[in-house]
Amino acid sequence: MSLLLLLLMLPLLASAFLPPPRPSLAPSLITSRLLASVPRLSSPATWLEGIDTFVFDCDGVIWRGDSVIDGVPGILAKLRAAGKKIFFVTNNSTKSRKGYKAKFDSLGLDVKAEEIFSSSFAAAAYLQQTKFLEKRKGKKVYVIGEVGIGEELDLIGVPWVGGPGDKDKVAELSPGSKVEHDEDVGAVIVGFDRHVNYFKIQNAQLCINENEDCEFIATNLDAVTHLTDAQEWAGNGAMVGAIKGCTGVEPTVVGKPSPLMIDFMVDQLKLERSKIAMVGDRLDTDVVFGTSNGLQTCLVLSGVTTEEKLLSDDNAIAPDFFASSIADFYPEA
Ligand SMILES: [Mg+2]
Repeated sequence: MSLLLLLLMLPLLASAFLPPPRPSLAPSLITSRLLASVPRLSSPATWLEGIDTFVFDCDGVIWRGDSVIDGVPGILAKLRAAGKKIFFVTNNSTKSRKGYKAKFDSLGLDVKAEEIFSSSFAAAAYLQQTKFLEKRKGKKVYVIGEVGIGEELDLIGVPWVGGPGDKDKVAELSPGSKVEHDEDVGAVIVGFDRHVNYFKIQNAQLCINENEDCEFIATNLDAVTHLTDAQEWAGNGAMVGAIKGCTGVEPTVVGKPSPLMIDFMVDQLKLERSKIAMVGDRLDTDVVFGTSNGLQTCLVLSGVTTEEKLLSDDNAIAPDFFASSIADFYPEA
């Protein structure tokens, strides 16, 4: 997707799913003159003093694919030694928190499961917050997505169907044939799914269009994602777009830049919003997630965004600072 198209979509996404952005950082108010002054993080010690909690995006910040980014283990250790709280927030719903913990372990990073917030977890947390089990007695969830969503639903006892089990199902199109959908589905969750197929789309369409008060929940709307480092790949925006296209229904988005995950963290963990720094490599998810939710923001250039893209006149999203990577937090290390 071109940057121009992405920028054209941003106001729509923001108005649909976000509270009003902080006036000082609202993308529509930022001029190219202001953007030209987005400062490089040059006095990290001073900045770190004012922050209690770091919220890190994962891919492009902590790791790239299956490789830890240079210097990250030492920086995380220093932040912990300085008494900072650390959390990891990712829009990738293919894994549960347990699955991410295994990935951190495999990369030699010592992280607690409760420090990880994935959009698969956010989808389950949303159902908990809205009391799906209590208010929709006997109802279940239909999942388009990989194992992460189902694992998180299992943890909160919400029954679900679909997911990886529908990988090889085919919608027969002979005369009179039809897909039999489950009339007890009260919510459809759509997350990134490498095995999305027409059967799943038709099933979700029937649940949303025909079941009474069936919710449509999207883990995230990322247009593209990095499955390999060779190119950009179609992200969950593609799966969500398919279901929007056949239902005309706008989803409830639970991942970044929706406020749900940060609201959950602030409420549950009693965090002070102004002393939280969101650190990410994407402007449209990570930085918007921070600026729209009252957090400090730092864009790192270790992922998908180049310095040229950040400072170009075409970009209307400004972080407080940018840095080459989180290694810049302790430059003497
Ligand atoms: Mg990222």
